[in-house]
Amino acid sequence: MNNTNKSPLKKLLAVFAHPDDESFICGGTLAKYASERVDITLVSATRGEMGRRMGNPPYLNRESMAAAREMELRSACDSLGIQRLLFLDIRDKTVEFADESSLTSRIADLIYEVKPDVVLTFHEKLGGHPDHCAIGKATTAAFQRSGIRGALYFITFGNAMERPERYGYSRKDVMKIDVHAHLEAKLAAFRAHRCQTGIDEWVWLPDHEAVANFGRYEYFLRADRGSSEENLDDLFSIPLGSRGFLS
Ligand SMILES: [Zn+2]
Repeated sequence: MNNTNKSPLKKLLAVFAHPDDESFICGGTLAKYASERVDITLVSATRGEMGRRMGNPPYLNRESMAAAREMELRSACDSLGIQRLLFLDIRDKTVEFADESSLTSRIADLIYEVKPDVVLTFHEKLGGHPDHCAIGKATTAAFQRSGIRGALYFITFGNAMERPERYGYSRKDVMKIDVHAHLEAKLAAFRAHRCQTGIDEWVWLPDHEAVANFGRYEYFLRADRGSSEENLDDLFSIPLGSRGFLS
């Protein structure tokens, strides 16, 4: 029995492919919800050991890359306020070849364990990289299989979803999150991924100049395709009846 008056902790589960997906694509949103005490679990399918960038000047090779990128990701998680980081230990650039049903089962197990209110992953067609599309497809299947009442959203790139019609979506399918107050955390996460961003001069400009390169908003596609048209500015606001699991 639970006699406390505290509202239950909100939980977010993000399932991505590579170290840096979380920071580069939706770092502002993760930092925003972490600052609102949302409990965040990040899953990275791979350790990004096939990344083309080796640092600037190069300080990594294929052997040292996985461990370095894991460390850089942990540091990015600290910058964003992500409390828990898990790896699926799939080799970078091979997620599309992983056994789909066992990958889906592993992610479904995680969903049962975490019991998230919000799940973030890639869109299986709009992911832009085979690893992204594959992890998105498996996570979507796992979410559907789990039967949870939480909400599933697909991360999107830059401000592409300012014009969702181009992708066959409408405005009510798009969540628009204001991350203006969290751009410094996002910048710190970019800098944490040093082997990937060392060559990007703008990242290392003085903070106020560097953050000017970020958009004010991050956009997410609703997997439920706009069943309501309100509250499109908060991933936790879509009315879902009583939150939690069916069982
Ligand atoms: Zn990626």
